[in-house]
Amino acid sequence: MLGKKTSYSEGTVNDLSRLKQRYEGKAKKVFATNDPELFIVAYKDDATAFNAQKKGTILNKGIVNNAVTAKIFAMLEAKGIPTHFIKKLNEREQLVRAVKIIPVEVIVRNFAAGSFAKRYGVDEGCPLEPTVVEWCYKSDVLSDPPMNDDTAIALGWATAAELSELRELSLKINSLLSEFFRVRSLRLIDFKLEFGRTASGDIVLADEISPDTCRLWDSRSGERLDKDRFRRDLGDVEAAYQEVMKRVLGEVNAGV
Ligand code: UDP
Repeated sequence: MLGKKTSYSEGTVNDLSRLKQRYEGKAKKVFATNDPELFIVAYKDDATAFNAQKKGTILNKGIVNNAVTAKIFAMLEAKGIPTHFIKKLNEREQLVRAVKIIPVEVIVRNFAAGSFAKRYGVDEGCPLEPTVVEWCYKSDVLSDPPMNDDTAIALGWATAAELSELRELSLKINSLLSEFFRVRSLRLIDFKLEFGRTASGDIVLADEISPDTCRLWDSRSGERLDKDRFRRDLGDVEAAYQEVMKRVLGEVNAGV
Protein backbone atom coordinates (compact mmCIF):
# COMPACT_ATOMS: atom_id res chain seq x y z
CA MET A 1 0.00 0.00 0.00
CA LEU A 2 2.92 2.29 0.62
CA GLY A 3 3.54 2.31 -3.11
CA LYS A 4 0.05 3.53 -4.13
CA LYS A 5 0.40 6.21 -6.80
CA THR A 6 -1.35 9.42 -5.81
CA SER A 7 -1.28 13.06 -6.76
CA TYR A 8 -0.14 13.77 -3.20
CA SER A 9 3.59 13.94 -2.63
CA GLU A 10 5.67 14.48 0.44
CA GLY A 11 5.78 18.18 1.21
CA THR A 12 2.23 18.69 -0.04
CA VAL A 13 0.58 21.55 1.80
CA ASN A 14 -3.19 21.18 1.69
CA ASP A 15 -5.78 23.87 2.00
CA LEU A 16 -7.87 21.77 4.38
CA SER A 17 -10.71 24.30 4.25
CA ARG A 18 -11.32 23.14 0.65
CA LEU A 19 -11.65 19.48 1.67
CA LYS A 20 -14.74 17.86 3.14
CA GLN A 21 -14.22 17.03 6.81
CA ARG A 22 -15.44 13.49 7.46
CA TYR A 23 -14.84 13.35 11.16
CA GLU A 24 -13.31 15.25 14.05
CA GLY A 25 -12.00 13.21 16.97
CA LYS A 26 -10.31 14.28 20.16
CA ALA A 27 -6.81 14.37 18.64
CA LYS A 28 -7.30 14.28 14.86
CA LYS A 29 -9.45 15.44 11.98
CA VAL A 30 -10.12 13.23 8.97
CA PHE A 31 -10.76 14.74 5.53
CA ALA A 32 -12.11 13.21 2.32
CA THR A 33 -10.04 13.82 -0.83
CA ASN A 34 -10.99 13.82 -4.51
CA ASP A 35 -10.03 10.12 -4.51
CA PRO A 36 -12.69 8.07 -2.64
CA GLU A 37 -10.00 5.58 -1.60
CA LEU A 38 -7.93 8.20 0.22
CA PHE A 39 -8.33 10.27 3.38
CA ILE A 40 -6.07 12.93 4.87
CA VAL A 41 -5.59 12.80 8.64
CA ALA A 42 -4.60 16.05 10.40
CA TYR A 43 -3.10 15.78 13.90
CA LYS A 44 -4.06 18.37 16.52
CA ASP A 45 -2.42 19.50 19.78
CA ASP A 46 -5.66 18.95 21.74
CA ALA A 47 -5.34 16.47 24.58
CA THR A 48 -8.06 14.77 26.57
CA ALA A 49 -8.02 12.19 29.34
CA PHE A 50 -10.51 10.27 31.45
CA ASN A 51 -13.05 10.20 28.63
CA ALA A 52 -12.65 13.89 27.92
CA GLN A 53 -13.37 15.00 31.50
CA LYS A 54 -9.87 16.50 31.46
CA LYS A 55 -9.04 18.71 28.48
CA GLY A 56 -5.93 20.62 27.49
CA THR A 57 -3.29 21.23 24.89
CA ILE A 58 0.15 19.68 24.53
CA LEU A 59 2.26 22.05 22.44
CA ASN A 60 3.35 20.42 19.17
CA LYS A 61 1.79 17.07 20.10
CA GLY A 62 0.24 16.88 16.62
CA ILE A 63 3.68 17.17 15.03
CA VAL A 64 5.11 14.47 17.30
CA ASN A 65 2.22 12.04 16.88
CA ASN A 66 2.15 12.46 13.09
CA ALA A 67 5.90 11.82 12.83
CA VAL A 68 5.93 8.92 15.31
CA THR A 69 2.88 7.23 13.75
CA ALA A 70 4.29 7.64 10.22
CA LYS A 71 7.61 6.07 11.19
CA ILE A 72 5.98 3.17 13.09
CA PHE A 73 3.31 2.40 10.49
CA ALA A 74 5.97 2.34 7.72
CA MET A 75 8.04 -0.05 9.87
CA LEU A 76 5.03 -2.31 10.48
CA GLU A 77 4.11 -2.34 6.75
CA ALA A 78 7.69 -3.29 5.91
CA LYS A 79 7.36 -6.22 8.36
CA GLY A 80 4.16 -7.47 6.71
CA ILE A 81 1.40 -5.84 8.81
CA PRO A 82 -1.34 -4.37 6.58
CA THR A 83 -2.03 -0.74 7.57
CA HIS A 84 -4.01 2.22 6.26
CA PHE A 85 -0.88 4.37 6.12
CA ILE A 86 0.36 5.63 2.75
CA LYS A 87 2.63 8.59 3.45
CA LYS A 88 3.33 11.57 5.65
CA LEU A 89 2.47 14.73 3.71
CA ASN A 90 3.75 17.48 5.98
CA GLU A 91 4.30 18.25 9.67
CA ARG A 92 0.75 17.56 10.78
CA GLU A 93 -0.88 15.58 7.96
CA GLN A 94 -0.69 12.11 6.54
CA LEU A 95 -2.36 10.36 3.62
CA VAL A 96 -4.16 7.12 4.48
CA ARG A 97 -6.42 4.56 2.82
CA ALA A 98 -10.10 5.24 3.39
CA VAL A 99 -11.40 2.64 5.86
CA LYS A 100 -14.41 2.15 8.12
CA ILE A 101 -13.16 1.87 11.68
CA ILE A 102 -14.19 -1.34 13.47
CA PRO A 103 -15.63 -0.19 16.82
CA VAL A 104 -13.44 -2.59 18.78
CA GLU A 105 -10.47 -0.97 20.55
CA VAL A 106 -7.73 -3.51 21.16
CA ILE A 107 -5.71 -2.99 24.34
CA VAL A 108 -2.45 -4.95 24.59
CA ARG A 109 -0.71 -5.13 27.96
CA ASN A 110 2.84 -6.35 28.66
CA PHE A 111 2.94 -4.85 32.17
CA ALA A 112 0.11 -3.82 34.49
CA ALA A 113 -0.69 -0.10 34.47
CA GLY A 114 -3.55 2.39 34.46
CA SER A 115 -7.08 1.05 34.65
CA PHE A 116 -5.86 -2.60 34.66
CA ALA A 117 -3.68 -2.10 37.75
CA LYS A 118 -6.58 -0.32 39.48
CA ARG A 119 -9.19 -2.94 38.45
CA TYR A 120 -7.22 -5.91 39.76
CA GLY A 121 -5.39 -4.19 42.63
CA VAL A 122 -1.90 -4.92 41.31
CA ASP A 123 1.19 -2.70 41.20
CA GLU A 124 1.92 -0.74 38.05
CA GLY A 125 4.90 -2.27 36.25
CA CYS A 126 4.06 -5.85 37.30
CA PRO A 127 4.94 -8.07 34.27
CA LEU A 128 2.06 -9.89 32.56
CA GLU A 129 2.78 -13.34 31.18
CA PRO A 130 1.16 -14.12 28.79
CA THR A 131 0.57 -10.71 27.25
CA VAL A 132 -3.02 -9.62 27.94
CA VAL A 133 -5.26 -8.65 25.00
CA GLU A 134 -8.53 -6.90 25.89
CA TRP A 135 -11.38 -5.42 23.85
CA CYS A 136 -13.26 -2.20 24.54
CA TYR A 137 -16.30 -0.93 22.62
CA LYS A 138 -15.27 2.31 20.86
CA SER A 139 -17.91 4.75 22.08
CA ASP A 140 -17.22 8.19 23.53
CA VAL A 141 -20.73 8.51 24.98
CA LEU A 142 -20.39 5.17 26.80
CA SER A 143 -16.73 5.81 27.82
CA ASP A 144 -15.33 2.84 25.82
CA PRO A 145 -16.70 0.00 28.03
CA PRO A 146 -14.74 -3.29 28.19
CA MET A 147 -16.41 -6.22 26.43
CA ASN A 148 -15.76 -9.87 25.59
CA ASP A 149 -15.94 -11.78 22.30
CA ASP A 150 -19.58 -12.82 22.68
CA THR A 151 -20.67 -9.21 23.19
CA ALA A 152 -18.81 -7.99 20.10
CA ILE A 153 -20.31 -10.80 17.98
CA ALA A 154 -23.85 -10.59 19.41
CA LEU A 155 -23.99 -6.83 18.86
CA GLY A 156 -22.59 -7.13 15.32
CA TRP A 157 -19.37 -5.17 15.84
CA ALA A 158 -17.09 -7.95 14.56
CA THR A 159 -17.34 -11.61 13.58
CA ALA A 160 -15.60 -14.41 15.46
CA ALA A 161 -13.15 -14.77 12.55
CA GLU A 162 -12.41 -11.04 12.60
CA LEU A 163 -11.76 -11.10 16.36
CA SER A 164 -9.25 -13.94 15.85
CA GLU A 165 -7.56 -11.91 13.12
CA LEU A 166 -7.47 -8.78 15.34
CA ARG A 167 -5.93 -10.78 18.18
CA GLU A 168 -3.30 -12.40 15.96
CA LEU A 169 -2.37 -9.11 14.26
CA SER A 170 -2.23 -7.29 17.61
CA LEU A 171 0.15 -9.85 19.13
CA LYS A 172 2.40 -9.66 16.06
CA ILE A 173 2.36 -5.85 16.25
CA ASN A 174 3.20 -6.12 19.96
CA SER A 175 6.33 -8.18 19.24
CA LEU A 176 7.49 -5.78 16.52
CA LEU A 177 6.73 -2.67 18.58
CA SER A 178 8.29 -3.98 21.80
CA GLU A 179 11.56 -4.60 19.95
CA PHE A 180 11.33 -1.28 18.08
CA PHE A 181 11.03 0.58 21.37
CA ARG A 182 13.51 -1.64 23.26
CA VAL A 183 16.39 -0.61 21.03
CA ARG A 184 15.37 2.99 21.69
CA SER A 185 15.58 2.48 25.47
CA LEU A 186 11.82 2.54 25.89
CA ARG A 187 9.75 -0.13 27.63
CA LEU A 188 6.38 -0.72 25.98
CA ILE A 189 4.01 -1.13 28.91
CA ASP A 190 0.68 -1.19 27.09
CA PHE A 191 -1.06 0.34 24.07
CA LYS A 192 -4.31 0.66 22.17
CA LEU A 193 -4.91 -0.25 18.53
CA GLU A 194 -7.77 0.40 16.14
CA PHE A 195 -8.41 -1.44 12.90
CA GLY A 196 -10.48 -0.59 9.84
CA ARG A 197 -12.16 -2.40 6.96
CA THR A 198 -11.29 -1.35 3.41
CA ALA A 199 -13.96 -1.21 0.69
CA SER A 200 -12.97 -4.75 -0.31
CA GLY A 201 -13.39 -5.96 3.30
CA ASP A 202 -9.72 -6.37 4.22
CA ILE A 203 -8.76 -5.59 7.80
CA VAL A 204 -5.92 -3.11 8.18
CA LEU A 205 -4.32 -1.35 11.14
CA ALA A 206 -5.64 2.24 11.36
CA ASP A 207 -5.63 5.24 13.74
CA GLU A 208 -2.29 6.09 15.40
CA ILE A 209 0.54 4.66 17.49
CA SER A 210 2.06 7.45 19.58
CA PRO A 211 2.71 8.58 23.17
CA ASP A 212 -1.06 9.30 23.30
CA THR A 213 -1.91 5.64 22.76
CA CYS A 214 1.09 3.79 24.25
CA ARG A 215 2.59 3.78 27.73
CA LEU A 216 6.35 4.12 27.30
CA TRP A 217 8.76 4.07 30.23
CA ASP A 218 12.43 4.92 29.95
CA SER A 219 14.26 1.57 30.21
CA ARG A 220 16.84 2.83 32.69
CA SER A 221 15.10 5.40 34.88
CA GLY A 222 11.53 4.09 34.55
CA GLU A 223 10.45 7.66 33.82
CA ARG A 224 7.09 7.90 32.07
CA LEU A 225 7.38 9.38 28.58
CA ASP A 226 3.73 9.28 27.51
CA LYS A 227 0.28 10.76 28.06
CA ASP A 228 0.30 9.74 31.74
CA ARG A 229 2.39 12.92 32.28
CA PHE A 230 -0.69 14.88 31.15
CA ARG A 231 -3.28 12.58 32.80
CA ARG A 232 -1.51 12.69 36.18
CA ASP A 233 -0.10 16.24 36.05
CA LEU A 234 3.50 14.99 36.24
CA GLY A 235 4.90 18.02 34.38
CA ASP A 236 7.32 18.18 31.44
CA VAL A 237 4.64 16.81 29.11
CA GLU A 238 5.94 18.50 25.95
CA ALA A 239 9.53 17.48 26.72
CA ALA A 240 8.47 13.83 27.10
CA TYR A 241 6.71 13.84 23.71
CA GLN A 242 9.76 15.47 22.09
CA GLU A 243 12.04 12.87 23.67
CA VAL A 244 9.94 10.02 22.27
CA MET A 245 10.01 11.61 18.81
CA LYS A 246 13.79 12.05 19.02
CA ARG A 247 14.30 8.40 19.93
CA VAL A 248 11.80 7.08 17.37
CA LEU A 249 13.25 9.09 14.49
CA GLY A 250 16.89 8.89 15.55
CA GLU A 251 19.68 6.42 14.98
CA VAL A 252 19.42 3.35 17.18
CA ASN A 253 21.92 1.42 19.18
CA ALA A 254 20.73 -2.16 18.57
CA GLY A 255 22.81 -3.38 21.50
CA VAL A 256 20.74 -1.45 24.05
N1 UDP B 1 -5.69 3.98 25.55
C1 UDP B 1 -5.94 4.82 24.49
N2 UDP B 1 -7.22 5.28 24.30
C2 UDP B 1 -8.26 4.93 25.11
C3 UDP B 1 -7.99 4.07 26.19
C4 UDP B 1 -6.70 3.61 26.39
O1 UDP B 1 -5.07 5.15 23.70
O2 UDP B 1 -9.40 5.38 24.87
C5 UDP B 1 -4.32 3.46 25.76
C6 UDP B 1 -3.64 4.09 26.97
O3 UDP B 1 -2.86 5.20 26.59
C7 UDP B 1 -2.77 2.97 27.47
C8 UDP B 1 -3.54 1.70 27.10
O4 UDP B 1 -4.42 2.09 26.05
O5 UDP B 1 -1.53 2.95 26.77
C9 UDP B 1 -4.30 1.09 28.24
O6 UDP B 1 -5.10 2.07 28.84
P1 UDP B 1 -5.98 1.76 30.15
O7 UDP B 1 -7.05 0.79 29.79
O8 UDP B 1 -5.09 1.39 31.27
O9 UDP B 1 -6.77 3.08 30.42
P2 UDP B 1 -6.35 4.41 31.14
O10 UDP B 1 -5.61 4.04 32.39
O11 UDP B 1 -5.54 5.14 30.14
O12 UDP B 1 -7.68 5.03 31.39
